[in-house]
Amino acid sequence: MSLQDILARVRAAEVAAGREVGSVELIAVSKLQPSARVEAVLEAGHRLFGENYVQESLGKWPGWRERFAGVKVHMIGPLQTNKAKQAVETFDAIHSVDRPSLAEKLARMAEQRGVSPEVFVQVNTGAEPQKAGVLPEQTDEFVSACRMMGLPVAGLMCIPPDGEDSAPHFAMLRDMAQRNGLSGLSMGMSSDFEAAIAHGATHIRVGSAIFGDRAVKA
Ligand SMILES: *Cc1c(COP(=O)(O)O)cnc(C)c1O
Repeated sequence: MSLQDILARVRAAEVAAGREVGSVELIAVSKLQPSARVEAVLEAGHRLFGENYVQESLGKWPGWRERFAGVKVHMIGPLQTNKAKQAVETFDAIHSVDRPSLAEKLARMAEQRGVSPEVFVQVNTGAEPQKAGVLPEQTDEFVSACRMMGLPVAGLMCIPPDGEDSAPHFAMLRDMAQRNGLSGLSMGMSSDFEAAIAHGATHIRVGSAIFGDRAVKA
């Protein structure tokens, strides 16, 4: 696979779903990938990337932002509250807001800085004990709490359980977004982004299908 192949599949899925071509944002997930692969995708003109680790991102992206105009980097991994300040300074959006302590910290910093990254509320649609995200039944309340804090909530994000059909999880996330008046849906990865587009994804997060297998986190 390559960037061009994935872009073609995204376009085909948009058309198949009766959606406008270009309505889905492709986040190229570059965590733990060799620099040469990421640079090849930057040189091909792609500008939207996803990362999971604050420290790793701080080491990579300042240089690339200088070399390639218009780069945007979204944080898609779990975020520790004590890294929130660095995250706000490093990322253009945060897809993993999942608890009041983190939302409060992000809101305080947004107020001090006068700007905030867009945030997505992560929902644990499968209610898996080991997984991050607010539970489905707590989502409406948490979204309103984030809004009351002044955070710009762009939408909802989910990672369906491994080995299950993703489609019901995507449908659930779409319904929750709709009833909360949220237009953003961050869902779909290498193995299921076409199904996510069929269910209304606005942001898909695709790593290995673009870059190949990545290193294992030390
Ligand atoms: C790593 C990661 C991805 C990309 O996964 P692939 O299977 O490589 O496409 C997407 N979303 C999240 C939250 C991730 O951590």
